[in-house]
Amino acid sequence: MIENIHTYIGTNTTTELVQFCAKQPETIFTLIADENTYGVLGRQVEDAFKQAQMDVRSIVLRGEEVVADEKYLMQVFIKAAYEPQLFIAVGSGTITDITRYTSYRSGNRFVSVPTAPSVDGFISLGAPLIVGGLKDTYPTHAPLAVFADLTTLTNAPKALIAAGFGDIIGKITSLADWKLENLIWGDPFDEAVEGRVRKALQQCIDSADAIAARSPEGIRSLIEALLQSGIGMLEFGNSRPASGAEHHCSHYWEMKLLEEDRPAILHGAKVGFATILVAQQYARLGSMTREDLMDALEGAEWPSRDTQIAEIQQAYGTVGDELIPMQQPFLDLTPDQYDQVKQRVLQNWDAIRQTLESVPSPDEVKRLLQSVGGPTDRQTLGLEAEKVQAALHYGHYLRRRFTVIKLLKILGMQPEL
Ligand SMILES: [Zn+2]
Repeated sequence: MIENIHTYIGTNTTTELVQFCAKQPETIFTLIADENTYGVLGRQVEDAFKQAQMDVRSIVLRGEEVVADEKYLMQVFIKAAYEPQLFIAVGSGTITDITRYTSYRSGNRFVSVPTAPSVDGFISLGAPLIVGGLKDTYPTHAPLAVFADLTTLTNAPKALIAAGFGDIIGKITSLADWKLENLIWGDPFDEAVEGRVRKALQQCIDSADAIAARSPEGIRSLIEALLQSGIGMLEFGNSRPASGAEHHCSHYWEMKLLEEDRPAILHGAKVGFATILVAQQYARLGSMTREDLMDALEGAEWPSRDTQIAEIQQAYGTVGDELIPMQQPFLDLTPDQYDQVKQRVLQNWDAIRQTLESVPSPDEVKRLLQSVGGPTDRQTLGLEAEKVQAALHYGHYLRRRFTVIKLLKILGMQPEL
């Protein structure tokens, strides 16, 4: 399946794209863009199809801020042709998610044409959508092909490039969280996928200066890393390798800003900043001795189901009801099961410690983000101190996954800044 995703990274994009599409069975090509990405690359793609006498129909989503919610999804469903068609997403993450979902649910395929190296979701099976105010990932399909135009990506706004870098920097903690999950919670771990995502992360770190300078080589490294991370998720079957506690914080802020009717913050900018906060938790746990650990385990108590539910409801309001079934394994942890988990922490402490220590210090994460011009403090992002704390405390309720935050809870500790 993965080998079937055709990827092109270069400067001859529209020609390559049109040639590729001409070979497909579909005869209607539905281009999805927003006003901005239509101007940046969409019109050019549309012209290339027209020149080749192909039936291209553009749906340009309008509005100050296009988000992957009911309103915009419905627009595409209503405006798209009834006949079979090949969707072409010309845009960054949001446009790709809207296209991924609508093409999937209408029984069509899609091609991704990123306009900025801003996020690792171009190749992915899931579409994160906001429905009824709750952000959740819906199973969909991967693109048939990705055509990344280096000229467009290199000229993308600096903030979007820094966001793409931030999304990759998030793999520092997502990979470590995944390993912790495997060691403590016993869920599957895949060394090959881990290797692929780690390589993408390292490639990005090594190219930080070139990415900051927006050289074609640097931007190529970045988009390659973003695509590789996507392939890692595809190989594993979900976003586990590329999404951990740092993403939960990001999702939390996204939902809260939406609730308060405030402008969104770039996904990768939030993820990058959250990685610093999560790395701080890693550093704290990494400095614990075995004696500290034993003391913590001895004194720790698992909160009752009612206490946990009250916390979810307090943090999320009515939306919280939808999160309760997802948290079932944690809500219903029996005293026996909790003891077993504690035993596993103790038995695997050496391996756990190794994982904790594999995470660079928060200062190092900060330095990396700064080198590419990404935001590293809450003020620049416009987040209140209270929201930063709350994301660390309650973000983990948004997914079933085990992360370093769940480990803190197991040890009877709270996330701290
Ligand atoms: Zn991400």
